[in-house]
Amino acid sequence: MTHLILAGHGSHLNADSSEPFHRLAAVLRASGEFDAVSVALWKEEPSLARALDAVTDPEVVVVPVFISTGYFTRTVVPREMRLDGPLTRRAGQQIRYTPPVGTHPRLAEVIIERAREAGAGPADALVVLGHGTRRDSQSEKNVYAMADLVARRALFAECGVAFIDQEPGMLTMLDRFRADRLFVVPLFIAEGWHVGETIPADLALDGPETRRGGRVVHYTPPVGTHPALAGVVRELAREALAAFPPAAASAPPAPARPGPRSPVVGELRIADGRVCGPGEPCRELPPDPEAVRRHVRIGEDGRYRPLPGARGLPGGWFVRTGEGCTAEAVVEAVYPLAAVHERQARAGELRIVPLDEVLERQSGRYESARSLSGRGRRVLRDVLCGRCIRTPAWPLSSLPAPGSPLPAPGSPLPAPGSPLPAPRSPLPAPGSPPCPEACSVFVALAREAAAWEQEGAEPVPVDPAIPFAAFEEPGNEIREAVLAALLEPASPGASR
Ligand code: SF4
Repeated sequence: MTHLILAGHGSHLNADSSEPFHRLAAVLRASGEFDAVSVALWKEEPSLARALDAVTDPEVVVVPVFISTGYFTRTVVPREMRLDGPLTRRAGQQIRYTPPVGTHPRLAEVIIERAREAGAGPADALVVLGHGTRRDSQSEKNVYAMADLVARRALFAECGVAFIDQEPGMLTMLDRFRADRLFVVPLFIAEGWHVGETIPADLALDGPETRRGGRVVHYTPPVGTHPALAGVVRELAREALAAFPPAAASAPPAPARPGPRSPVVGELRIADGRVCGPGEPCRELPPDPEAVRRHVRIGEDGRYRPLPGARGLPGGWFVRTGEGCTAEAVVEAVYPLAAVHERQARAGELRIVPLDEVLERQSGRYESARSLSGRGRRVLRDVLCGRCIRTPAWPLSSLPAPGSPLPAPGSPLPAPGSPLPAPRSPLPAPGSPPCPEACSVFVALAREAAAWEQEGAEPVPVDPAIPFAAFEEPGNEIREAVLAALLEPASPGASR
């Protein structure tokens, strides 16, 4: 039994950022080559840190869907998924970690396909457009390697590179290439901020085709959204399985015992062969968990919902459940891993990570979140988690509080019925699944709140148009609630 996990970035601010991963997962699922295919994201749920919680297959392959070998593939993904290297053996599982898709020679075929689909031919120039950064010399390597592989095929008159953030820059393309027609293929995964906004703006593009002084610049979609990317992922997974073959005798880890299913999970109601969102269920959604996932990503106010557990699901819908679309799959689509964590908690198997450990392992631009005060941490838990259907099971600290025995970090919740060190590790209330580890939205807020504590910040009236997770913007609803709570005098005895 082999489970493929696509590890990607995702975004708290851009609802489209993770769509390529979900589409890619759907294509790979449909191929039937793997027993299961799932997605794990750095800035969205299901998170890199917890995605393996749901995987009970003995053989696992994690493919990082990133272009560059860099900070994310070398540091963030292995750290968050607790990987030891190309092979991790843990609890009866073999977890293989492949190089990123951007390193595989087969990606050159996807670049060629993109250019050809846009009309490129032997007289044209193909420009492989990468991000690049002066901070990491590794970042450019895959871009040059791909351009070299394409050039060796001699399909185009010219082939070279251009970068957003280093030399040779994209603004000089028309000077460096001689062909009348340039086909610019972005070596990016998603149609995100760069591909959709900064590149077209900086190059003053009119759209897919821009005329400039008798020449034409064709701008294609990024390689990451091309269906042929699935072939690259398949190759990487096959190579990893060949390098570390499945262990014939490996036994799968025991799955968490399913408990009785609650008729209410967060704002969902499950009854009579249907899962219903809040309110009067008038509109029937297709019996497809992916369709449900897409539907609940945008709230009724039109804003992206980066925190799946945030109260305020769009209402008025229902989906019929059955063999092809189970209630479990619909709940998973709306609240990733919530049912898994609830089952694990009831079986005493939920791995809980204290908040100080989560903040301590942050690096890069999130490292400053570590300096958030104890009071600030409690305020964030009250404000943000108070808006979430999940119940934080994580303690603020791995140090025991006076008179309060605490399980060792990483230990499971006590067995059902045994006394709990309340309020640090509560068993979930019915319908409110436990949260075993602070999520990425919490960490992003902690980073901002640490800066507010140190530099000061002025409260302003709430502006409901500001995106949910744009915490740095004055008027963001969460920002204003946190600032109001931080400005209140501390209550005596609130030291934990
Ligand atoms: S950390 Fe808080 S806001 Fe994030 S999922 Fe857990 S309970 Fe919800």
